Amino acid sequence: MTYKTDKSKELFQQAQRCLVGGISSSFHKAPWNDYPIYMDHGEGARVFDVDGNSYIDYLNAFGPNILGYVHPALTEAVEKQLKKATLMAAPNADLVKLANKLVDIIPCADKVSAFMSSGSEANMHAIRVARAYTGKKKIVKIEGCYHGSMDEEKVSCDAEKLEALGSREHPNKIKHIKGQKDPDDIIIAMFNDLDNIEHIFKTQGDDIACMILETIMANADPIYPKPGFLEGLRKLCDEYKVVLIFDEVITGFRLGLQGAQGCFGVTPDLATFGKAIGGGYPISCVVGREEVVTAATVASGTFAANALCVAAALATIETCQQPDFYENLERMSKKMIDGIEEICAKHGVKVNTKAIGGMWTMILGTDEELTDYRDHYSKVDSKLYTRLVQGCMERGIRLNPWRGRNYMCAQSTDDDIDYTLRVIDEVMAAAVVEK
Ligand code: PMP
Repeated sequence: MTYKTDKSKELFQQAQRCLVGGISSSFHKAPWNDYPIYMDHGEGARVFDVDGNSYIDYLNAFGPNILGYVHPALTEAVEKQLKKATLMAAPNADLVKLANKLVDIIPCADKVSAFMSSGSEANMHAIRVARAYTGKKKIVKIEGCYHGSMDEEKVSCDAEKLEALGSREHPNKIKHIKGQKDPDDIIIAMFNDLDNIEHIFKTQGDDIACMILETIMANADPIYPKPGFLEGLRKLCDEYKVVLIFDEVITGFRLGLQGAQGCFGVTPDLATFGKAIGGGYPISCVVGREEVVTAATVASGTFAANALCVAAALATIETCQQPDFYENLERMSKKMIDGIEEICAKHGVKVNTKAIGGMWTMILGTDEELTDYRDHYSKVDSKLYTRLVQGCMERGIRLNPWRGRNYMCAQSTDDDIDYTLRVIDEVMAAAVVEK
């Protein structure tokens, strides 16, 4: 059967009349396509589009769908709550249960600060808490890390060219959206470079409220922390009285039950969770060390801690707590990257792969470790990755179209992985020749 997406094309044309740009998120359209693929429904580890094509899905909605689509435990919990009420402008009993669970599970969580609906809100709130606690206002962020769509979060995280970044000593603060305010209070630092960060703390520490980062820079290729980097950061933050914030929006409930802080054994002062915590329902939170997290109670929101999303989060976490849940995800993630390593060796393509819990990553064009965001431009073969992902999509495998980070879900199967590897092998053969 040939791959056809006519109905998607038609819907996109209709959308031009009523929706600016025809889409609601720029990430809903793959970089090679003139129009997005309109999806209709999901089932297990698969998603089905409006033209009837099915895809084994490793994008999993950019991370949240840790249980896959229409997971029985999650669906049952949500349906039950749906019949009671979704929004009551009041806390319910499950909220207390959920907050207790997080405090029991997450190393840095003496308390939950508040629940919100998105990762962007959680990070914005965490920054406010850090400012309230320290009485200082500047934020150190790492070049290449993405923390959300708010003015202060969307800075220097997706530059088109290396030249746009400026020098390492005086990096540019790149704004990404028209109308975004000047990021005056942001200081850009380099990932995996403790000397760079120490210099910033030494010279401007009196003004710095917090250091926020993705522990694994998942929004860039991804790039992993070198041994000692997170530990060193912890020490520097203590020394200069800077609040350390781990943005666990991707890593939380994805790498393991305790997120990146559990994986790497480094405990931040504050951490933010989103995406996988709700299994596909919009819920996020800030948690942290008692003294810091209680410095401000500034969160509010009409939809915050709504009963439906709280039920979803509880059901998701309880499923993740089942024995061997993450071991099984990691076993499948490893099987995938082992297969990809073999395929790349066969086709003479250099690759760097990693698998932790339900996240597996492939960086094409290099077998070296990437150190920071700037390495992306000199080492990564993004064009080959794009050709691979496009070819896979046309053969019913959906990978992350933007970066080499991909996700298993609880309903992924060994048969899916075997089939996926056969497709990747075929597509890679053609993609390498096209070069
Ligand atoms: N932090 C990280 C690390 C993210 O990857 C994202 C979203 N991709 C966000 C924050 C923002 O989350 P949301 O899109 O839910 O606002």
